[in-house]
Amino acid sequence: MQVNKAPIFDTFERKHDYLRISLTERCNLRCFYCMPEEGIPLREKAVFMTSEETIELARIFVELGVKKIRLTGGEPLIKKDIANIIQQLGQLPVELTLTTNAILVDRYIETFQEAGIQSINVSLDSLKAERFNAISRRSYFDRIMTNIELLLVNNFKTKVNVVLIKDVNDKEVVDFIEWTENRDVEVRFIEFMPFDGNNWNWSKKVTQAEIIEKVEAHFGAEKLVSLPSLPNDTSRHYQIDGFKGKFGIISTLTNPFCDSCNRIRLTADGKIKNCLFSSEEVNLLQALRKGKDVEKIIRESILAKKHSRAGIQSFEDEKSALIHSANRSMTTIGG
Ligand code: SAM
Ligand code: SF4
Repeated sequence: MQVNKAPIFDTFERKHDYLRISLTERCNLRCFYCMPEEGIPLREKAVFMTSEETIELARIFVELGVKKIRLTGGEPLIKKDIANIIQQLGQLPVELTLTTNAILVDRYIETFQEAGIQSINVSLDSLKAERFNAISRRSYFDRIMTNIELLLVNNFKTKVNVVLIKDVNDKEVVDFIEWTENRDVEVRFIEFMPFDGNNWNWSKKVTQAEIIEKVEAHFGAEKLVSLPSLPNDTSRHYQIDGFKGKFGIISTLTNPFCDSCNRIRLTADGKIKNCLFSSEEVNLLQALRKGKDVEKIIRESILAKKHSRAGIQSFEDEKSALIHSANRSMTTIGG
């Protein structure tokens, strides 16, 4: 495959070489900050990308210089054709990875290995079964914990995403870090973000400063080691001296990483979102089906990208929160 076209740049000279593809809006969990309890309304199959269309669009992005593809959702592993999609994308010259709730991971370990997947992000918001099951409104805690260990035993670089929410799971910061003492895993604390109908408000966030305060109070400031960041990192990395694992903080609201953003999102219904916070979308799938110039549409979409969080200055005022309630829920965007 030839990758010799000009890369995708925005007007701020940011090269966009990381594509996140949502494979489905559906999920086997109902995490309250992401999914409505009743699930999302079902739509006719024809509005979603088929596996072939997903792969065709991915190839076009790779020809435009995309170097990394993350499969997400909803829950990517509930997609019927997932093994075939992973297999085919694994043949492209990209780093292929995925974000999953890990419920079905045990079924696909070999598929991941054969496709050359080396790193996997798992979501887990509590180390306590009862709390996790309350947050996700289902009862898969034990299975998920077993599958995280399975990933580690099979040497996948594993990151565990924890959405921290005040008075829900923020008391577990220290527990999660202690969990990294003998496990080669990176726990990433993510700020709770506002999306359609998820009852977000500013007071429920847990900031980087609050996390660091808890960590220093428990482990001692001298034990907290700051690790270097990589280009395009969304996370600040730390480690407790002597621990096998690490932890990171993703503070999208209070301390964003937009300067080095290289991300493009493709939703399960084939729309490009040039920013997680943008409610503007361009229908790439329709363009593909009508035989239009998909490459031109991709470039135009990225050229329209605002510098920071789709132009939203602050999340502190009510107005911004309301703008956000007009955005899709995370499960339909693809987190
Ligand atoms: N089902 C998979 C999973 O949970 O890992 C992949 C999709 S999920 C939408 C991707 C990531 O988005 C998860 O780590 C989840 O915790 C995060 N997420 C969902 N809603 C969020 C919100 N309101 N604020 C912050 N992160 C959120
Ligand atoms: Fe499903 Fe992931 Fe959303 Fe939880 S965060 S409801 S696992 S898509």
